[in-house]
Amino acid sequence: MTFDLTSEQDQLRDAVRALGRRYGHGYFVEKAKAGEHTTELWAEAGRLGYLGVNIPTAYGGGGGGITELAIVCEELAAAGCPLLLLVVSPAIAATVINRHGTEEQRKRHLPGLADGSAKIVFAITEPDAGSNFHRLGTVARRDGDGWLLSGRKCYISGVDEADHVLVVARTEDAGTGKLKPALFIVPTNAAGLTRSKLDMEIVSPENQFLLYLDDVRLPADALVGESLDAGLPALFAGLNPERITVAAMGAGTGRYAIERASGYTATRKVWGGRSIGSHQGVSHPLAHAAVQVELARLMIQKAATLYDAGRDLEAGVAGNMAKYAAGEAAALAVDTAVQALGGAGMTTEYGVATLLGAVRAGRIAPVSREMILNFVAQHVLGQDKSY
Ligand SMILES: Cc1cc2nc3c(=O)[nH]c(=O)nc-3n(C[C@H](O)[C@H](O)[C@H](O)COP(=O)(O)OP(=O)(O)OC[C@H]3O[C@@H](n4cnc5c(N)ncnc54)[C@H](O)[C@@H]3O)c2cc1C
Repeated sequence: MTFDLTSEQDQLRDAVRALGRRYGHGYFVEKAKAGEHTTELWAEAGRLGYLGVNIPTAYGGGGGGITELAIVCEELAAAGCPLLLLVVSPAIAATVINRHGTEEQRKRHLPGLADGSAKIVFAITEPDAGSNFHRLGTVARRDGDGWLLSGRKCYISGVDEADHVLVVARTEDAGTGKLKPALFIVPTNAAGLTRSKLDMEIVSPENQFLLYLDDVRLPADALVGESLDAGLPALFAGLNPERITVAAMGAGTGRYAIERASGYTATRKVWGGRSIGSHQGVSHPLAHAAVQVELARLMIQKAATLYDAGRDLEAGVAGNMAKYAAGEAAALAVDTAVQALGGAGMTTEYGVATLLGAVRAGRIAPVSREMILNFVAQHVLGQDKSY
């Protein structure tokens, strides 16, 4: 067993950290408050190869795995730039297309995802299905050689920045008559696809949308994979990378908050010569949060290692646990950091309260803490389902 990164991974970590720090949380907040995107950071990360680290070299990527992409997510977040679209585009969409797309789809989409010139976002959540994807109401019907998609999706991140959206829909299996899931690569400018922006209480340059699919006509090759049988495995293929990278983003955010707060408490003096950090009422909560973040990082490392070794089932358990641990640790770290900073914690300038909404959302999305606990209760502890 080793806890060391390879020298290439170490170099990647240092390089991404340096890039993130050059932009910093001030840039992230400024973009969010101006209603703009982090276009410059995304483009530079793409040019430097960081967005495509997990994409095979044959399609312009770095040929690494989810371990490398998790490093990118964590280090940008640790610099105050938690980019949710890293989880959606390179982690979910690129993995799904690489593992289950046709060769034509890989050639068409992966190079753009690798260099950052294209983004593909992901739409599974629906107003009437929520956590229960078995109730999806978005339907794909045959239309000659192609497809017609109808339905509604909600909270879909980054549609305004993306060229395509990977839509999870249901199709009818001709053989059994049963409905089964299928994934479609839908251009965001397709006729019949409309969106409305949701007002979210999260300081982020990335937006969430309601999507309306009203008989969106698609060619046959919009379906991910060669046949409808690719649907379920393709959907599951995206889950582990999603959980691991969103966990990495949470751990990075936790590190960022603790670093901001401990830098402040080590130097702030309001009781004579001693720093406020010398009071254990201030330092212990920060130390406790640091322990939780570090524990989450260990679980992320384990999950990513298992995933990259092709041990998908074990990676599923570890990835869910990592996501849970990192979601809780990030929320704890940011809340604790705000408290340790006192009034400064609530200012925009100190750049911690700006993350309260994001870390709170991290306990809900992309999978809620309750649904992870359900997963662990059923798959690890052998408990019956209540639903
Ligand atoms: C910032 C943000 C970005 C997002 N981006 C995307 C995106 O890009 N693409 C996308 O498809 N979706 C996205 N989502 C949606 C997200 O994945 C869902 O919000 C999440 O899966 C929960 O679904 P829901 O909101 O419908 O909650 P519901 O399913 O309505 O659940 C509400 C509450 O009840 C709990 N609950 C539900 N069922 C059970 C149960 N059986 N046992 C115990 N507790 C239960 C949940 O844990 C939750 O706390 C995003 C959400 C947010 C907040």
